[in-house]
Amino acid sequence: MMPIVDLRSDTVTRPTAGMREAMMTAPLGDDVFGDDPTVIKLQERVAAMLGKEAALFMPSGTQSNLVAIMSHCARGDEYIVGQQAHTYRWEAGGAAVLGGVQPQPLEHEEDGTLALERIESAIKPDDAHFARSRLLCLENTLGGRVMPLRYLEAATVLAKSKGLMSHLDGARLFNASVASGEQLQSIAAGFDSVSICFSKGLGAPVGSALAGKSDFIARARRWRKMAGGGLRQVGLLAAAADYALDHHVRRLSLDHALASELSVALGGIPGLKVQVPQTNIVFADLDKGLLPGLLEHLQSRGVLATGVDRLRFVTHLDVDAIGIARAAAAVRDYFSNDHT
Ligand SMILES: *Cc1c(COP(=O)(O)O)cnc(C)c1O
Repeated sequence: MMPIVDLRSDTVTRPTAGMREAMMTAPLGDDVFGDDPTVIKLQERVAAMLGKEAALFMPSGTQSNLVAIMSHCARGDEYIVGQQAHTYRWEAGGAAVLGGVQPQPLEHEEDGTLALERIESAIKPDDAHFARSRLLCLENTLGGRVMPLRYLEAATVLAKSKGLMSHLDGARLFNASVASGEQLQSIAAGFDSVSICFSKGLGAPVGSALAGKSDFIARARRWRKMAGGGLRQVGLLAAAADYALDHHVRRLSLDHALASELSVALGGIPGLKVQVPQTNIVFADLDKGLLPGLLEHLQSRGVLATGVDRLRFVTHLDVDAIGIARAAAAVRDYFSNDHT
């Protein structure tokens, strides 16, 4: 039996032996009482890494973003966000459903940014007809693309000048940092809050963190509790995250190199338009009608991928060059067998 090459997401990784060992030996307390030493250590470390006053360990990135929006906004407020952003499109409408906070989605530019003029004209005047524009939500990386540092600076300066807070969904912030060579603190600098994920490319089984000012994090702690995210001996999971920060950050460049290798190997296949990856996500456009058949064909070859509108592969800790070569061969095979 050939091993499965699972390129559906960088969330599919299994904790390594070293990570499991760190989890098993971590000193624990009760984090709802605030006395789990492993959680405290991780939160302090994350706050320092991101250049913020405080941080809060969260069960998931979705909950972290939700808690961030609810800590910035009240019922009847709105957040400005991209059509493709996770905080708008992929979180089941949580901010609206649970927070009474309305999203104001905007179309993205080609590079994934939200045009500053578009942001500015979406900010509503103080008028009883309108929701109160309160927050700008950006994402980095977005669909594997790194948002330029100068853009992030300009967008957060604009938000601030208009009295808006700004939140960065940095589920893959480490990928952005490793790919661009920019420090985490520089990327995070203009934002009032930043959310990061340990369960994506960093390879932890569970966990995110939200960082910001101390009073913001105090509010976030209450919303996290209300959302059911106050966990007890959660140092078990914080230990995995801490281990990931020690061992799985710099190696992200290997994932980026594999993604690049895959995009090259898929190049030149007629019927497939491959986007050059900036980090660990490879997208390819093809006739949408072919997607289900292609995904099924890949699965029969032990290669797992996803695709709603486009074919998507994500590289991570648990794939290697052999797996990438198998994935590319399976795609090539499908197109050479007259399916076009
Ligand atoms: C994965 C992801 C999240 C959070 O997802 P969870 O599965 O809830 O941890 C948030 N934002 C982005 C951009 C993501 O990719």
